[in-house]
Amino acid sequence: MPAIRQLPDYLINRIAAGEVVENPAAVVRELVENSIDAGASAITVELRAGGKSWLAVEDDGCGMSADDLALAVQRHATSKLPEDDLVNIATFGFRGEALPSVGAVSRLSISSRAAGHDSAWQIAVDGGRIGAIEPAARASGTRVEVRDLFYVTPARLKFLRSDQAELISVKGVLARLALAHPSIRFTLVNEGRTAFAYAPCTDHAARVAQIVGDDFSGNAMQLGSTREGLSLRGYAGLPTLSRGNSQHQYLFVNNRPVRDRLLLGALKGAYADTMMGDRHPVAVLFLDVPYEAVDVNVHPQKQEVRFREPALVRSLLVSSIQQALQAHGQRSAGGTVPLPQMLGQGSGVARTPYQGYAPRGGFSQPTPFYGQVREAPFGDLGGWQPQARTAESEPAPVYVPADHPLGAARAQLHGTYIVSQTAEGIIIVDQHAAHERIVYERLKASLSLGGVSRQPLLIPEIVAMTQADAATLVENAGLLEPYGLLIEPFGADSVAVREIPAILADRIDYMTLLRDLADQLAEGGQGEILRDAVLALLARQACHGSVRAGRMLNVDEMNALLRQMEETPLSGQCNHGRPTYVALSLSELEKLFARK
Ligand code: ADP
Ligand code: MG
Repeated sequence: MPAIRQLPDYLINRIAAGEVVENPAAVVRELVENSIDAGASAITVELRAGGKSWLAVEDDGCGMSADDLALAVQRHATSKLPEDDLVNIATFGFRGEALPSVGAVSRLSISSRAAGHDSAWQIAVDGGRIGAIEPAARASGTRVEVRDLFYVTPARLKFLRSDQAELISVKGVLARLALAHPSIRFTLVNEGRTAFAYAPCTDHAARVAQIVGDDFSGNAMQLGSTREGLSLRGYAGLPTLSRGNSQHQYLFVNNRPVRDRLLLGALKGAYADTMMGDRHPVAVLFLDVPYEAVDVNVHPQKQEVRFREPALVRSLLVSSIQQALQAHGQRSAGGTVPLPQMLGQGSGVARTPYQGYAPRGGFSQPTPFYGQVREAPFGDLGGWQPQARTAESEPAPVYVPADHPLGAARAQLHGTYIVSQTAEGIIIVDQHAAHERIVYERLKASLSLGGVSRQPLLIPEIVAMTQADAATLVENAGLLEPYGLLIEPFGADSVAVREIPAILADRIDYMTLLRDLADQLAEGGQGEILRDAVLALLARQACHGSVRAGRMLNVDEMNALLRQMEETPLSGQCNHGRPTYVALSLSELEKLFARK
């Protein structure tokens, strides 16, 4: 056995670098965070080859004196824990690890001039070898350059992706930091050309529009709620503004960008009812919590955090978004798209709001996660059903457009679209999408009234798992019961499933369902995946039970549908997140015909 020895510093730094900097974007994040911590008002990032061959970050912050510069590249040297207080961390940095780590795996050079000093200094670190402090020339502020990232660790180098992919990651990092700091000017120069320059803004809303786009700003719900010392503010997109991945979810905890599983899961849960499983909401959310309620020191890149009360955080996020969704329920993103764009004319700018639903054929039916669907007979769901008008039927009520938000139906086109005259203009309703939402909301209401109907198993299903998972499930069995799942302890490392939701019956994959449930419960969840699985099947039933496109409707039937939409929560979109109607105001129509 070789003797134990203390590793040399350069090796320690190289090991740390493995955790702290995984790609150019991580280097950029560390350097830009330093610039923000230094009080910069303008930050410029330059890249070549996606940052792999060269990158630079320059700021006009407080800068460093010669002595500070020498210390900055030493391991665990920081100016940011003045009271040695690891609880009340108000800066991005606090570990004093970034500069030595980057210097250990690249050719790093820093030049800086402290505010109020009249000389500038520079220092270089090459593969961990620290050079001498030398005089430099520059205005106050700091410039950090990183060449040949990972040249000392070829294995890591191999894992870097294409220039383009690394560039996209860098942009994502900058977008997040810029959203959190609207008053700072951010500029990205890629291969010598300015990729973007975000001018300083006085408020968050303007920065959100710069980064996430006007489409989002025009189609987002503003949030603002507080509970037990936690507060949530920001913007959540309407369900009709969904995206194909979660890249457009910007989450911040105490103004620190995070990609936290708990928050991402809560966001998904909040939209479960209004969006298909493979679509993702767009959101910019700022969660502010007392410093002692969150631990930011759990992840080397500070991307994840640990909350003292995860369940509280989760429910604040879910309930504020759902309240906003209810309040905006009848609004649909389509109606707010500027008309020329809607008709494919004008600006030629890519039209993001339509992405969520434009590929009509592209949507698959909701698929349940945990088993085969058993089509339930679709008899008396109640509510509106199309009916043929007979000679004897009662005379139809006459609707005056101004009396109803969705107006009076005037015509059906292509057996699919209802055209209605409203007080302000016209709306065009997709009859299938609209009816689907009505049926789904009714199914859901019946679910919350009577609970989910359960099916007892003749022979209980015994599912083996870890002791920890079994304990979590048994402890939280009460949360699962309302959704029709009845479980009991069975030894230390198994549970017995006695009853299941009737709708999930047959070939349900208990093992996967229970394991996922245990994970979710352990993270402070409330068994939402079970609820979601049940709701997904209800949604599927709703889709099958709704009036098809192509079915001819008479005026009474059309008006009856409009009236039901007015009473139905979330009727602005079907449960796949497509809008149920689009609105054109008279002034938009007049513009179209050049009357104005
Ligand atoms: P940390 O940010 O955790 O303190 P770093 O290794 O990133 O650790 O930086 C070490 C120290 O160098 C910082 O605490 C700060 O005092 C100084 N520093 C780094 N970058 C800058 C900058 N752009 N402007 C001024 N000071 C800086
Ligand atoms: Mg730092």
